[in-house]
Amino acid sequence: MLFKTIKNTTSSIAVLAICLVSLTVLTVSLQEHEKLYFEFVKGDLDALAENMSSDLIPLLAFEPDEFELTSMLLRLDRYDNVKFATIYDKTWQALQSYHGKSFSAQHPITIFQLESFKEKGPGVYLANGELVAVKLIGDVRLPLGYLIIIHDSNGPLNKSKLNLLKQVLPLTLILLFIVIFLLFWIQGRLFYPLISLSRLTHKIRQTKDYSLKVHIRGKQEVASLSHDLNLMMETINQETLKNKEYTAQLMEQQKTMERLANFDGLTGLPNRQFFMETLRIELAKAKRSKKNLILLYFDLDGFKGVNDSLGHDTGDQLLIEVSNRSKEYFRDGDIISRLGGDEFLILLHNEPNDFLLYQIAERLVNGLSKPFKINSWEVQVSVSVGIAKAYDANFNLSEFVCNADVAMYRSKMAGRDTHTIFVPEMMEEKKRKLLIANSISHAIKNDEFMLYYQPKVSPEEEIIGYEALLRWTSETLGKVSPAEFIPIAEQSGKIQIITKWVLDRLCQDIENIQQAINPNIVVSVNLSAQDIKSVSLISYIKSLFKQYAVEPSAIEFEVTESAYLENFDMANDFFSEMRALGTSIALDDFGTGYSSLSYLTQLQLNTLKIDKQFVDNLVISERSTLITKTIIEMAKQLNLKICAEGVETREQFNFLIENGCHQLQGYLFSKPICLTQVLSHKLKK
Ligand code: C2E
Ligand code: CA
Ligand code: CA
Repeated sequence: MLFKTIKNTTSSIAVLAICLVSLTVLTVSLQEHEKLYFEFVKGDLDALAENMSSDLIPLLAFEPDEFELTSMLLRLDRYDNVKFATIYDKTWQALQSYHGKSFSAQHPITIFQLESFKEKGPGVYLANGELVAVKLIGDVRLPLGYLIIIHDSNGPLNKSKLNLLKQVLPLTLILLFIVIFLLFWIQGRLFYPLISLSRLTHKIRQTKDYSLKVHIRGKQEVASLSHDLNLMMETINQETLKNKEYTAQLMEQQKTMERLANFDGLTGLPNRQFFMETLRIELAKAKRSKKNLILLYFDLDGFKGVNDSLGHDTGDQLLIEVSNRSKEYFRDGDIISRLGGDEFLILLHNEPNDFLLYQIAERLVNGLSKPFKINSWEVQVSVSVGIAKAYDANFNLSEFVCNADVAMYRSKMAGRDTHTIFVPEMMEEKKRKLLIANSISHAIKNDEFMLYYQPKVSPEEEIIGYEALLRWTSETLGKVSPAEFIPIAEQSGKIQIITKWVLDRLCQDIENIQQAINPNIVVSVNLSAQDIKSVSLISYIKSLFKQYAVEPSAIEFEVTESAYLENFDMANDFFSEMRALGTSIALDDFGTGYSSLSYLTQLQLNTLKIDKQFVDNLVISERSTLITKTIIEMAKQLNLKICAEGVETREQFNFLIENGCHQLQGYLFSKPICLTQVLSHKLKK
């Protein structure tokens, strides 16, 4: 601690040095004092001994008198520090001794000392801290005796030293303190800049604030150092700020990249990649903890129609609104994701029981079927929801999603705007669908398809046309209804080859039919949504007409309202071309789609086909009767022909012709029949 800082080290060394110097000075002066003292006392003792020895000469010249010697020695009483004195005769026989005040019991002069004194001869010596004066009484040539005086010099010396110390020490101490104080003061002033610098660096280290500065004036080296340090700090500070800015930019970029990679740009919802990754982790967790997971899959019914008819901006806006509204129906922790297009997936964070699940799905279906207000349009869509449970998929990710998709498809098949919970049996159907989809190409090559014809009659019950309907007797699957395989062919992209096959066959048959029945016979063909999107089909049809010399007016295309509206622009282009050729167009299953009646005038149409469900309920349901009446009325105003399909009873027939229906088709007249039957067919009246 003491030597940790320069200041402490230098202070300690300086204080130590000052103390040492003071001590040395004190010791030297004490020694000097002792030397002087000895010199002084030696001189005095020498003089005293000299005087006494001179005075003793007359006494020893004769027979010495003990009394006189004693009184002579008693003169020494005046000298406090004379310890002992002895007068010897010339043969060093002690004649008389004197014991001073400071005499101790022990004989001060040993025989050994005496011998050394004898040897040394007269003089003043220092022995055992005592001054010993040895004097010859008389003359060298005529010695009379000797005088030895022992002077106690230690006691007085110590006393004198003590006196000296008493005088010197306080002063020395005061001076010492003053010097040390001055030292600290000067040092404080000298080290202040250095300490300030050190404090600054310490603070910077703690706070990481590089904008801190130290202000030290003067021309000292530390001042210039501090100036340099400030400059350096400024540079560091600027660099740090730049770095911070860069880091912030990088973080922002990283966030943007993460957002782009994981979130849908349009709705801001997690995208497919993010959702699938999350689902993978959640499935693994759920499997470990044996917890079920619930997945909802939904897509918008007729979204494509909105996109095509109202524009992509409105379509995009609709997706945003749908995503925002969907969020309201779910809780925090549920993950809503947009898979792309109009498909959404939702992972529930908990496992509600079937009743709750039903309520959640109902809320979603009902909520999203309420109209959306977009760019002053009131857009109404519905959703088909599929629900799957992780247990049914054995916690397998793709199976889980596939199950939800299968259930969703089930909702679509069930008429849309509804929800379905997946059950394993649905998978069997899925397998059958796959089998069907995979058998279509083979069926064409294997010539498994047949074209049947169902007559359309006039109010007078004369055959005026036919609807070409496909029949399939598969080698492996047996008879498969078009109601089953046509939607599968549409989904699996196989519809085009079927349509081409049908058109090809029809073009081959039509001449025979016309010849057998009536040259004005019109045969209608069903087209799928995919067909009318295909430009190549137009040229294919044209080439067929050419190849088989088919009069285009002998052909009518039937297309459903939804297929038309889903591809509004392309369908219009397609049918414009066809109408230009001379073929006519019928809107199939009219009344079952989303009936945007306002569009009817914009469609390239000749005929409206009233759907079988209305005909079925004619006379039974007032609503159906009213709708059918209205449709017929409206068609008349739009200058469209009306064809009623699925006519099975006389009542239906009567009602329809009473209301002005132009064409009728149904089991009442004939089921679909093969070409051979057509050629020999006569309607039973
Ligand atoms: P769709 O175009 O509505 O055809 C009418 C369907 O109703 C036919 O069923 C027909 O047999 C049936 N039908 C006609 N009259 C009656 C009746 O009085 N009572 C009853 N119960 N049914 C009647 P089909 O032939 O099974 O065809 C089902 C659907 O498959 C068709 O419905 C059509 O959408 C599609 N389809 C059939 N052949 C083709 C084809 O060649 N191409 C395309 N794209 N679709 C086809
Ligand atoms: Ca049809
Ligand atoms: Ca129909």
